Amino acid sequence: MYTERLYQIEDEIGKTAERVCTEVFAHPEPGDAEIWSSAFLADEAERIGFSVTRSYLGLPTSFRADFGDEDGPTIAFLAEYDALPGYGESGKEYGHACGHNWIAGSTYAAAAALKKLKEETGFRGRISWIGTPAEETNNRKITLIERGAFRNVDAVFQMHLGWETTVHTTALACAVLHYEFEGKAAHASAAPETGINALDAVMLTFAGINCLRQHVTPDVRIHGVVRDGGQAPNVVPDHASMEVYIRAADKDYLEEVIEKAGNCAKGAAMMTGAKAKILRDETTTYDIRNHPGLAKMLEKHLTELGETPVIPKKTMTGSTDIGNVTYEVPTAYAIMGTSEFSGARTHEAEFLTVADSGYAHRKLHVAAKAMAASALELYLHPGTDAPADHSCL
Ligand SMILES: [Zn+2]
Ligand SMILES: [Zn+2]
Repeated sequence: MYTERLYQIEDEIGKTAERVCTEVFAHPEPGDAEIWSSAFLADEAERIGFSVTRSYLGLPTSFRADFGDEDGPTIAFLAEYDALPGYGESGKEYGHACGHNWIAGSTYAAAAALKKLKEETGFRGRISWIGTPAEETNNRKITLIERGAFRNVDAVFQMHLGWETTVHTTALACAVLHYEFEGKAAHASAAPETGINALDAVMLTFAGINCLRQHVTPDVRIHGVVRDGGQAPNVVPDHASMEVYIRAADKDYLEEVIEKAGNCAKGAAMMTGAKAKILRDETTTYDIRNHPGLAKMLEKHLTELGETPVIPKKTMTGSTDIGNVTYEVPTAYAIMGTSEFSGARTHEAEFLTVADSGYAHRKLHVAAKAMAASALELYLHPGTDAPADHSCL
């Protein structure tokens, strides 16, 4: 049976995959500056015979490694390798506290094992390992989508370390808004009646948003900070600004909430006489819509490999650019649990003791095997993207 051989191959390349995980961990770099990591991963792919494109689609720290051709499905494994700022003694160093080094290692192992099996058995299709930079900051998967990276991709797999093992992953759609107000400076005590207070407009916007919270669905999160609150107490602030993240469980509902929050800013401008400018960051991350068939397939293989995937009691309320991928391509994005090893959660400093541990390495092989075995089902049975008893899109 091919799956057994696939697992054997994954065992054979296991040490290399662990080295990939460890090397990326040892070279933490921030998003869009993963120069060492992306070059190292591209070199590794080239060394084992993938055809590699560096600076993929104009992104300097993206890469794409392909093996095979389009006479069958193209299945992509998405690597990440950006680190987080703020770890270490000076607070300026970077660290892999989200475990993206593990994502690099596990997707490498899945792609490399399938490549070797394809060489031995000749199954049809293309194996793609795509380097997706800056998940934590600049959402480069969205850039890659816009530039056509997933146009000829039939399925996508990725796993991330987290609290408990599950294929029932969720995320909130998220947009970043900036509200800027222009008022009129005046002496705050001698002639306040001649001024227009831009800071008041910021405070009234927050007040409006706080009232709005009662009238949106409970999944919505709106959280912000004041970016500019004026220069001096004795000057009526002629400029003030704030930045808010707005999140919702559904990307379409998110747009409704963004409009309502924007109306709070417009109303605040009217109340104070200030002029409001509303700016929105270019990218909006979407909620996660895993393909049910692929997710069940991945869950089945995880279970066979000894994991006990759960349905989480608490909805995951972060945001990630793989949400946008799930709207573009049938995707299975799952979490590999680490809570039985450590009580540390991702982004905590303590998670640095998890992300490249022996435990994480063992789980790397489970994830790689489960993702590769699920992809193998698609390669061997193209056109049916789930076992017969599973519902598909
Ligand atoms: Zn993270
Ligand atoms: Zn992460």
